Amino acid sequence: MLIDTLDVLRCPYCGGRLSLVDSLYHRGTSEEIHDGILGCHCCIFPVVDGIPVLHLLPSSTIARDQIQAGRPDMARRAMFGLDDDSQAEAFDAVASSDTATYRDTVEALGPNFEGGYFLYRFSDPTYIVAQAVARAVGTTVLGGRRRAVDICGGSGHVTRTLLDLSSAPPVLADLYFAKVWLARRFTAPGCEPVCCDGNAPMPFARGAFAFAMCTDAFMYIWTKRQFVGEMERLVDNQRTPGADPGAVLIGHTHNERTWSQSHGQPLSPEGYADLFEMIEPRLFGEAGLFADVVAGGPLDLTRRDDQETLDTNPALTIVASRHPGMWTRHRLAQPSAASGELRINPLYTVEPDGDGVRLRLGFPSEEYEQEYGACRQYLPEVLTLDRSTVAMLATGRVSGDLIELFRRKVIVDLPTRYY
Ligand SMILES: [Zn+2]
Repeated sequence: MLIDTLDVLRCPYCGGRLSLVDSLYHRGTSEEIHDGILGCHCCIFPVVDGIPVLHLLPSSTIARDQIQAGRPDMARRAMFGLDDDSQAEAFDAVASSDTATYRDTVEALGPNFEGGYFLYRFSDPTYIVAQAVARAVGTTVLGGRRRAVDICGGSGHVTRTLLDLSSAPPVLADLYFAKVWLARRFTAPGCEPVCCDGNAPMPFARGAFAFAMCTDAFMYIWTKRQFVGEMERLVDNQRTPGADPGAVLIGHTHNERTWSQSHGQPLSPEGYADLFEMIEPRLFGEAGLFADVVAGGPLDLTRRDDQETLDTNPALTIVASRHPGMWTRHRLAQPSAASGELRINPLYTVEPDGDGVRLRLGFPSEEYEQEYGACRQYLPEVLTLDRSTVAMLATGRVSGDLIELFRRKVIVDLPTRYY
């Protein structure tokens, strides 16, 4: 972790500043802490492999004891939950390899870690809406000058889209150490991961961010009132005269009135709106935003979805901001170059066809198709790419024929060494 990040960190329990305890075991440079112990008014927390662990769950206290004993390797094993020696050794080998991929690392963590769907994450319908909304809101309030935090951001798939919008590295907060570790290494390189508990007060200073977001996780949070109050606090910059208003985004949260897979403990639309005490929120049915994205934009945040629309959408998106530029039609800009590698979407099987290749859409499982089958609205069933188009992938430039293929997610921009 960057030492500068201590400026925005606070103890989740006493609210005090955190600083490195010099008298205890630590490793790092003048700019970064690699392993060590952070202290506040009330307790001490470990930094493991450059990630501050700001909760007191059993894994954290074991890791803290291991760091104090000068065993950062054992602290990392504790945070990854690797109890079995042979599995731990296999993981250590992958973690220290320069050529191991995201997939290799996930496999080394064993079958209980994360479903097999991460390969398809960048083109699933939930993701493309989350990405479009995060970019629209982020572009409005960050402007390359202010900082973002992605809370419960898991392995950093949406955090990745904030990397070029946030001035200081975007912070990725999640309970699962393995996920934020993967994010920093592969999915969102350069983000600043923090391991913390979404059901506890958030370990950050008031007004530390201009944009606080959480997608595809809020329905699993029990302490929803506290969570939203904390998001409002993180973007509260009223003590800074002349500062532009920030924004809170809760993307893809399930709806109590309409069943969906992995339902969680959702609220009704009014229930969600009532959580906001500081900034008035606007709620959107995800279907309308999805249609905007499939059409290539604009993403229409001037819309006012009526009660019936909100009640019947399985998923909702909530934006709260006083920024006057928020409630407009946001253009969906496409990048002109890949940030990682341009690849054919792994949902396609690829066969040689004359001078080019023939692609056929398929799904990894029936459950996947049920949950994400709406991707058929932009992914064609079959298509043929000529050899010159395939050759363009290696250039990393999104130009010519690739522009439309990229927009439709036939071609995806995957993190380097993803699979
Ligand atoms: Zn404390």
